Amino acid sequence: MWSSPIYIDHGGRTLLRRSRYVLVIPLQNREFLFVNTFTGAILFGPEEILRILNGVNPEQETSEEVSALVSQGFLTELSPKEETEKAFKSLESIQSLHRDHTLFALIPTYDCNMRCDYCYVSSVFTRDEPWLQRKMTHSQVDAAFKAMETLNPHTRAPIHLLGGEPLISSNYELIEYILTRGTRCDKSFIIVTNGLESSLFLPLLLESKITSLQITVDGIEEIHNRRKKRADGTGSFCQIVESIDQLAEAGFTVYVRVNIDHSTVRTLPSFMEFAHEKGWDQRDNMIYLSPVRHHTPGGCYNFMHNLKKEDLQFLLGDEVLRDVFLRGLGPIAQKLGFVDKWLPQMSYCRSYLSQTWFDPFGDIYLCTDTLGNKEEAVGTYYPEVTFNERFNQWKERTIFNMKSCRHCRYAMICGGGCGNYAAQTKGDLLKPDCEFSNQAVDVYYPLFGKMIQGERKRTQENIPGE
Ligand code: SF4
Ligand code: SF4
Repeated sequence: MWSSPIYIDHGGRTLLRRSRYVLVIPLQNREFLFVNTFTGAILFGPEEILRILNGVNPEQETSEEVSALVSQGFLTELSPKEETEKAFKSLESIQSLHRDHTLFALIPTYDCNMRCDYCYVSSVFTRDEPWLQRKMTHSQVDAAFKAMETLNPHTRAPIHLLGGEPLISSNYELIEYILTRGTRCDKSFIIVTNGLESSLFLPLLLESKITSLQITVDGIEEIHNRRKKRADGTGSFCQIVESIDQLAEAGFTVYVRVNIDHSTVRTLPSFMEFAHEKGWDQRDNMIYLSPVRHHTPGGCYNFMHNLKKEDLQFLLGDEVLRDVFLRGLGPIAQKLGFVDKWLPQMSYCRSYLSQTWFDPFGDIYLCTDTLGNKEEAVGTYYPEVTFNERFNQWKERTIFNMKSCRHCRYAMICGGGCGNYAAQTKGDLLKPDCEFSNQAVDVYYPLFGKMIQGERKRTQENIPGE
């Protein structure tokens, strides 16, 4: 916890105190990472800075040091109450930057030709066949496009096609209809596919505007086949690898997502050797590691649910794995401020303000973990666009409306936590879920901080004369 406020008198003119939004993360070699969770400022420095922030021996401080800390928001003249008020006032003015309904996703069907161990919609596979095999009709596709146009005519984000599995042969005519319909109104697509039957779709994909495809490989063949089986129980590794090569050779941007957990981490060097032989690691940012995470406290940003701290050490200790692991951690780096343009988070994930899913039953969902559970749908897009009370609750779920979040110093990196988990475990969509912030302080900030420290050290060692 941060220390109680200590005021510094500078020549009797200004009283400064440590901002209530300052986090202090100890790193190696008595260095610290200082973060201001409201301004997004990130600073590396010695204990001396901590001493200034805590107002110990103020007469020793130079005005330059103090001014630098004031300009980045680490020291402030404001009381904690005034600081909170000022922060929320300025958040109101950037609210419009978090546009409503910017990411649209179509689920042509929940059906899939694979049965992965950890699928985020795995619960739907216990449903009866007619439910599972339900597909969007042409009228629903038309209605979905009309709804997108109404909800946000200005979004330039590609439409996501997911499932279930969008690219299965029995869906061909439907996918053709969707892609043609999209191409007509100049829409591009990101397709998340398992790749098993993507070769059938190649000519169609070549005629459409496909921004990228994402295909998952779970590591070396033995691991992958154990976790990612076809619906008939056989392995899928060889076919998926062939599809990745085929799509990449056809000129598509293909992202290979490698789902990892504690049980697979130590086999990853062998997988990266395989990826190197395939030339996948020579394509820009093609591979990234992504910890398995769904239906957990912290929801989509809980990267630690299936990993242990020693796994992180292992991943970061290997130069090849480190790069692909950090690429996968991009969304977390983004939330915590390790990016050029950081925006304070007013909500935890895209589900509240921008992520909108259209399913084959005419329903709209906002959260991935709720897909297919009709009682969690927030409205319909077919036969007409309607929104229900659940939708209003999701929209309410911001740090403006959750009392404990409003007064929390993690608010602008956290945004209130996973709403779905809060709803499932606390019975209230408007309750906070603090898992992410706990992990941020315990794991993610030290992780990124030590990474940057290491990079700086390597750079200094490579500078002649340093
Ligand atoms: S969910 Fe918890 S940690 Fe996050 S902003 Fe709310 S109170 Fe703070
Ligand atoms: S509320 Fe957001 S973070 Fe939580 S499971 Fe849903 S989409 Fe993921």
